[in-house]
Amino acid sequence: MTARVLVVDDVEVNIKLLEAKLTSEYFNVLSANSGQLALEIAERERPDVALLDVMMPGMDGFEVCRRLKANPLTADIPVVMVTALSDASDRLQGLEAGADDFLTKPVNDIALFARVRSLVRLKRMMEEWRLREEVYGKFATADQPGSEIDNKRPARILLFEENPIIAAQISKLVEPLASEVILARDVAEGQAKLDSEVELVIAGLSESDGALRFVSQLRALEATRLLPVVLIADEDEVARVAKGLDIGANDYLLRPLDRNELIARVRSQVRRKRVQDRLRENYQRSLSLALTDGLTGLYNRRYLSAHLDGLMARSASVLMFDIDFFKKVNDTFGHGAGDEVLIEVAARTQRNVRGFDLVARYGGEEFVVVMPETDLPIALNVAERLRRTIEEQAVGAPSVGQNIPITISVGVAETLAEGDTTVALLKRADEALYAAKHKGRNCVVAWMPEGQTQPEPAAKDE
Ligand code: GH3
Ligand code: MG
Ligand code: MG
Repeated sequence: MTARVLVVDDVEVNIKLLEAKLTSEYFNVLSANSGQLALEIAERERPDVALLDVMMPGMDGFEVCRRLKANPLTADIPVVMVTALSDASDRLQGLEAGADDFLTKPVNDIALFARVRSLVRLKRMMEEWRLREEVYGKFATADQPGSEIDNKRPARILLFEENPIIAAQISKLVEPLASEVILARDVAEGQAKLDSEVELVIAGLSESDGALRFVSQLRALEATRLLPVVLIADEDEVARVAKGLDIGANDYLLRPLDRNELIARVRSQVRRKRVQDRLRENYQRSLSLALTDGLTGLYNRRYLSAHLDGLMARSASVLMFDIDFFKKVNDTFGHGAGDEVLIEVAARTQRNVRGFDLVARYGGEEFVVVMPETDLPIALNVAERLRRTIEEQAVGAPSVGQNIPITISVGVAETLAEGDTTVALLKRADEALYAAKHKGRNCVVAWMPEGQTQPEPAAKDE
């Protein structure tokens, strides 16, 4: 997908210049020669990045940035301020307006492409999480209390810096924002000291390229793939910075360091990480709500089907069991006690199968256990053990202060050699279960092809 870049400048020549550079790198360019027009185009076209000139007649770049960030339709568009002055106060004003980065005129090609690419990547990632959140959001209770992002909370920062004197200086500068700055002097130490509480990595680039190796390792690992990384480099190391951004670093600062800019950038990366973590948590919570059963915590039918689909190519056995005369439990002890029985049966089942077997609630008082790489005699054995476990000890129902004796009927089926499907497998297990009910309940029946007799259970389980 080609990224779309909005270039905003009141001077036509400047637009043409940036347009030529960006087009040569296969970006699609939109342009606006005033702040007002920029706002209109941004809202209508939703570009992936906006490059804003600071000095414009009428509405200046800072104001355009503030308005973009204040409008929910355009707030996610990353903004790069393009300024003639590399004045620190200008940059600071931009950060306060919500800008994500700066470029100074004349614009350096490497910095331009690297920055634009990295911001596009970030925007795409945020969009992906938002989308997933929207899709699964219907299953979730939107914002849990206490989940609002706490921006003031100090962050745990890992500082990768080979030079101890520079490390001490940087630590001092970020002190107001940090709960702790953990120092790492090489890749091995970085790996060793990184823990799941770290919210940001600051990496000082050097001739040895240790920091770049460290960043590329962070990006290769699932756990740290999205951990924000801010690079620090000397002014003559722009090529190294571009490489770092290509590898996946999120931001950079050039020396001499401006204290306020460092703080602003660290803060904005930490904020971004917290937003992103929140979106991910919401997503995972929604996902688990969509795929698990609220009463028992077991997987639900939807998950079972997906899981079984993946297993059909290999061999597996399934147990399908149903509580006998469960209606009577509800009628005698009430629906609440019935629920407690279901919860206990689920827990007992889970305790009586192997870790890689899957237990799902299939329907009201019907459960399914999927056992990969398990043949029929062993499956029968597990089924029998489970049946006994339920029968032997009456199930406690605390809400009514009773132990309720219950039994289950179990149907067992295994995958067939060829042309079997998830639906057919579950249907055979269901037929066997039906046969067990007919046989008088509290028993186990295996599905057998026409004319074949039930195998004996295996002498031992495993
Ligand atoms: P059988 O031995 O033939 O299975 O008899 P049964 O009474 O168990 O079968 P039936 O299918 O007639 O009744 C199932 C009952 O399970 C009816 C329904 O109210 C109850 N049930 C289903 N889901 C729940 C639940 O989540 N909680 C409670 N308490 N009861 C449930
Ligand atoms: Mg029943
Ligand atoms: Mg039933």
